[in-house]
Amino acid sequence: MNKQKEEKIMKKQILDLLEGDQEKKLDSAKVILDNMPLFFNSVIQEAKTVHLEHFSPRILLYAISYISDVCISSCQYCGHSKDNARKRRRLSLEEIEKDFSAVLQYHPQELCVLAGEDPKIFDHFIEAIKILNKLNPHFDNCLQLISLNIAPLDKPKFEKIIQDSQSKIPLQFRIFQETYDREEYTRNHTDGPKTNFDFRYSAQERALSSGFQSVGIGALLGINSKGTKGNNQEILSLIAHAYDLKTKTGQFPESVAIPRLQPIPEQPSPKNFVEDKRYIFYLGVLRLALPTVKIYITAREVASFIETVEPFINVRDLAPRPCVGGNINGMDITKFQNLLGDSRSAKEIINDLKNRNKI
Ligand code: SF4
Repeated sequence: MNKQKEEKIMKKQILDLLEGDQEKKLDSAKVILDNMPLFFNSVIQEAKTVHLEHFSPRILLYAISYISDVCISSCQYCGHSKDNARKRRRLSLEEIEKDFSAVLQYHPQELCVLAGEDPKIFDHFIEAIKILNKLNPHFDNCLQLISLNIAPLDKPKFEKIIQDSQSKIPLQFRIFQETYDREEYTRNHTDGPKTNFDFRYSAQERALSSGFQSVGIGALLGINSKGTKGNNQEILSLIAHAYDLKTKTGQFPESVAIPRLQPIPEQPSPKNFVEDKRYIFYLGVLRLALPTVKIYITAREVASFIETVEPFINVRDLAPRPCVGGNINGMDITKFQNLLGDSRSAKEIINDLKNRNKI
């Protein structure tokens, strides 16, 4: 194929991804994903342009707070899996308030509440939202969003959260499908409620119809064992999930994330690690396929890498310490759900972003 013809085909695929109907978008996403060497430069260039058409170049910050690592599920990639012999705990309401306050002093725009598959935690979610609504005025009303990254619920429970919390701060329900490949899903989720693929896949729909203002979706890259083809398929399925939500609920997800699984002490290394260049490509493809959806990145990645992809991502986490009470107890990595690539303090991250005019 001569160069001119090649460029024409490339332009057409990217245009279809940006402007086609959903079917066309998915077709062209597949072609682009399967031909990274050909499309890499155009996708990255176009992703930067599209990002600035919809968003400011500033990076938003979200804090996290783990309120329980009690878990009755076995996920092969998670440090909090019930199979790992760890001492578990659930924070008291006083401890939750302390953990929240410890990060709110840095004025993040969002606070994400996390918990394992803990059968006794439900009432704490409502109380946690109430606590954040109470604390927010003391921190200049910095919070614009409370996200719940928790196990999927049935509709009555989602509705109860909305009704009982009476949150003035918008609520997002965020959950990752982890893998969209049912075979891989079964292999990675061997026991507990999380074995139910469909209940998880439909959770965002239930949350929206129960009154949550927004939802988030994601895939955990590295657990699909089917090589590059498997990882490409995860990205394609994630995009399809976003389109599916739009069709069923009238709303796109507000956030999307594709964390890369990092090795953790008690678990085998990721089966199918996505190398840096391909990961950047995936973020670029997501930006084109979902131009108005906020893309999140986490401190699983090293700081220099996060900086590389800032031109087409929106939100990063603020010095997460991924364990129960991590904001008050600090860096005890033996209790972490995952290891960190960027373990800088909140102050260091904020200073770095300020110096580069990113916040
Ligand atoms: S990913 Fe969630 S449900 Fe699975 S083991 Fe970890 S905490 Fe439990």
